[in-house]
Amino acid sequence: MNCTKCKTKAVIGLPRHNAAFCKGCFNGFVHDQVARAIKSEKMCGKEDRILVAVSGGKDSLALWDILLKLGYRADALYVNLGIGTYSEQSHAKVTKFAEAVAAPLGATLHLHTIEQEAGAGIKELAQLIHRPTCSTCGTIKRYQFNHVAIEQHYDVMATGHNLDDEAARLLGNVLHWQEEYLDKQGPALPASVEGFAKKVKPLYRLSERELAAYAVLNRIDYIVEECPMAKGSKVLLYKEVLNRLETESPGTKQMFYWGFLEKQSKKQLTAATMTEKDRAVLHPCTSCSQPTTAEVCSYCKMMARAKTVVPR
Ligand code: SF4
Ligand SMILES: [Zn+2]
Ligand SMILES: [Zn+2]
Repeated sequence: MNCTKCKTKAVIGLPRHNAAFCKGCFNGFVHDQVARAIKSEKMCGKEDRILVAVSGGKDSLALWDILLKLGYRADALYVNLGIGTYSEQSHAKVTKFAEAVAAPLGATLHLHTIEQEAGAGIKELAQLIHRPTCSTCGTIKRYQFNHVAIEQHYDVMATGHNLDDEAARLLGNVLHWQEEYLDKQGPALPASVEGFAKKVKPLYRLSERELAAYAVLNRIDYIVEECPMAKGSKVLLYKEVLNRLETESPGTKQMFYWGFLEKQSKKQLTAATMTEKDRAVLHPCTSCSQPTTAEVCSYCKMMARAKTVVPR
């Protein structure tokens, strides 16, 4: 199998693009897909300061790597969840990447440790406050990400969600007809109100397999295991189903998610209409000032509850 572009020996075949690439041309393809995503969705400019949410997995570290190589000003935030060896290993991978690759390019890594703030790791904390682990985790990560972005004056927050993640999420939202989530499933969400930073997903044009290949070819040392709490999650099941379809018919995931985006853009859900909608229901949390629909935001409620039940 030879490279579609330069005809030397290919290292990866991409059936959905009917192409194969050598390492150099594959890196060019990946960078080009991210550059196209950023441009077509007006995600950010070269002068913007970007905060990347990193987990130690292939997608987020690859995203940080690609943004820096494309010349963007990208720092990162890692939230240590306190899940035994999984968190220890992912923390170590993030720190290693930050020191070896990001720091020499002038980028900074911010760290937040849940145990330090709440007095317990995510699993114990969720049990003590009687909430599902993943929803507790989601609330904390969203809050911290937004908090650091606003406090440190980042223009945009970027996450490593890839095509597989977005297609699986779309399938879940369609199966349950969760229309309010469908409205917000685009790869770029504007800074809807004062206190909420803009959010982008520059990897939405690349599949999980392509990102794993990018990480391996570029010697990005990432944590291969999924978070142990993800076991049995519906998203993994949706991904399996979509992978089965993709094997039979390459391009299915892309057709499904990109087709949805095309239909969305026709609906012209503009930044202005979203801002108005959000502004009508959101106001500052009386405790921390982040936007919320209640008097006190769910993060502050959770932390207040943690203070009363977590033994210190
Ligand atoms: S799977 Fe792990 S990282 Fe993902 S939301 Fe659940 S606890 Fe958090
Ligand atoms: Zn080539
Ligand atoms: Zn609050």
